[in-house]
Amino acid sequence: ESMAGLNFIEQIVVKDLAQGKNDGRLQTRFPPEPNGYLHIGHAKAICMDFGIAKKYNGICNLRFDDTNPLKEDMEYMDAIKEDIKWLGFDWAGEYYASDYFQQLWDLAVRLIKEGRAYVDEQSAEQIAQQKGTPTRPGTDSLYRNRPIEESLELFEKMNSGEIEEGKMVLRAKIDMANSNMHFRDPIIYRVVNHPHPRTGSKWKAYPMYDFAHGQSDFFEGVTHSLCTLEFVPHRPLYDLFIDWVKEGQDLEDHRPRQYEFNKLNLNYVLLSKRNLLIMVKEGLVDGWDDPRMPTLCGFRRRGYSPEGIRKFVDKIGYTTFDALNDFALLESAIREDLNERATRVSAVLKPVKLVITNYPEGQTEEMQAIDNPEHPEAGCHTITFSRELWIEQDDFMEDAPKKYFRLTPGKEVRLKNAYIVECSGCKKDDEGNVTEIYCTYDPDSKSGMPGANRKVKGTIHWLSTQHCNKSEVRLYDRLWMVENPRDELASLQENEKCDALTAMKKMINPHSLDVLNDCYVEPYLEELYERGEKYLQFQRIGYFTFDKNSSSEKLIFNRTVSLKDSWKK
Ligand code: ATP
Ligand code: MG
Ligand code: MG
Repeated sequence: ESMAGLNFIEQIVVKDLAQGKNDGRLQTRFPPEPNGYLHIGHAKAICMDFGIAKKYNGICNLRFDDTNPLKEDMEYMDAIKEDIKWLGFDWAGEYYASDYFQQLWDLAVRLIKEGRAYVDEQSAEQIAQQKGTPTRPGTDSLYRNRPIEESLELFEKMNSGEIEEGKMVLRAKIDMANSNMHFRDPIIYRVVNHPHPRTGSKWKAYPMYDFAHGQSDFFEGVTHSLCTLEFVPHRPLYDLFIDWVKEGQDLEDHRPRQYEFNKLNLNYVLLSKRNLLIMVKEGLVDGWDDPRMPTLCGFRRRGYSPEGIRKFVDKIGYTTFDALNDFALLESAIREDLNERATRVSAVLKPVKLVITNYPEGQTEEMQAIDNPEHPEAGCHTITFSRELWIEQDDFMEDAPKKYFRLTPGKEVRLKNAYIVECSGCKKDDEGNVTEIYCTYDPDSKSGMPGANRKVKGTIHWLSTQHCNKSEVRLYDRLWMVENPRDELASLQENEKCDALTAMKKMINPHSLDVLNDCYVEPYLEELYERGEKYLQFQRIGYFTFDKNSSSEKLIFNRTVSLKDSWKK
């Protein structure tokens, strides 16, 4: 296979496999911390971790990075599994960092005995102060050279519940002058006196990320440990700990290697579970699956397809430098995918009545509407036509400019799937609002009839007032008003010395949700709802889906994305 079309990580994998590294095995893992719901950034990591294993006959495991019982929860684990499956991936094995707590503990004890780790009784602040700067070496803790026996004894106590949180940590003894700050005696264990969702109260001493992650990779047999760029400076420590755990074995052979790609960062979108949790807890949104959330469950509820999300991830690709991707690119991938999938229906969101004065009262006709012009084989459904219709207020103008091709007195338009009508006028209330529009129809102009080929510039959609259902439609706009909410959040907090919530309230778009209560949809939607159909196109308006709170009595729709890119910059 030519390397040309492959991203840089694939190129590494192909080369390693060709060279027979790791006995020709490829094993990756997706390692979420169960401290929140997955977001679109995770989708990028999932597509890489699972996608590359699938493509090159390797395996990808799911490993929960459950080393912080204070923030982690079973609810999140279940949600994470559901979201990965929804995206279209499945794991070979389900693992937990907590599966390795005993092995990690044993390793830590070994390191203490070897003089490579010590218990430090200083506060977090003292330890931070002694770290130094990249250009100035740090200073040794006064506990750095304490007797091995003492550290062993205290480490036991850290785990037995006798030590308060923050009073003691275990540190690896590496190099307080190293130019890589992560080598300056990193903390590898801390005390957390809080029950763990899986191991209960068995442990009180918990391994830190750097000590747990690489070793877990090693214990599992991971070959390529793929993560995001912020872990580049951690890589030497990752390698050192693997060297330590492999001591006495061939250091080159059978070991995981870490590779980093760029994080997904989207304009007008705030990621990071920490931020999303604040938004949920403080009620800035209506839960993790609020359709305005960038979570996978939010996008699902909004009507995004997993295929569309994967298409987007494919388009942006993987590089080694950070970027700010355009949200419009995600929307266009979704549109492209939904164009293939969505059933076309008629809905009138802002209705006004159109009366066809020469159409007999009480008469109806069944018109044929194509379900999806991209897939004519999918068939048609019928839509009832009658004398009184709902059309969009926007589709009528009394004094229209020349280029207005919708309904205006004296001009013709086609009613989708039905007749050509000519507008004859309208009725207004005392305030000048149009309450009714009048037109006449040409009986020979029905689609398929001889008169149907007459050129008419505009086509508008409609619903028979007696043959439609009232429903609620929710329109969504961007949640944040600033282009780079992540950076803006940080600088607001810094400059105004405020907390994240206060900063968020300054950036949030107060008009991100518009609920329309007087919308009409065709009765065919009841049938689609009962069938479990997910993807809809309201013709001429946009892509929509049924909200989870719909019932057969009341349908509620979420706008997934408009038909065209309409975001104002
Ligand atoms: P968050 O700050 O949102 O909690 P995280 O990196 O702490 O993100 P984890 O649960 O630890 O979240 O992440 C699991 C995997 O997903 C990691 O490999 C991580 O690098 C990756 N990941 C997280 N955010 C992004 C992103 N924005 N783009 C690409 N990959 C990401
Ligand atoms: Mg993390
Ligand atoms: Mg995190």
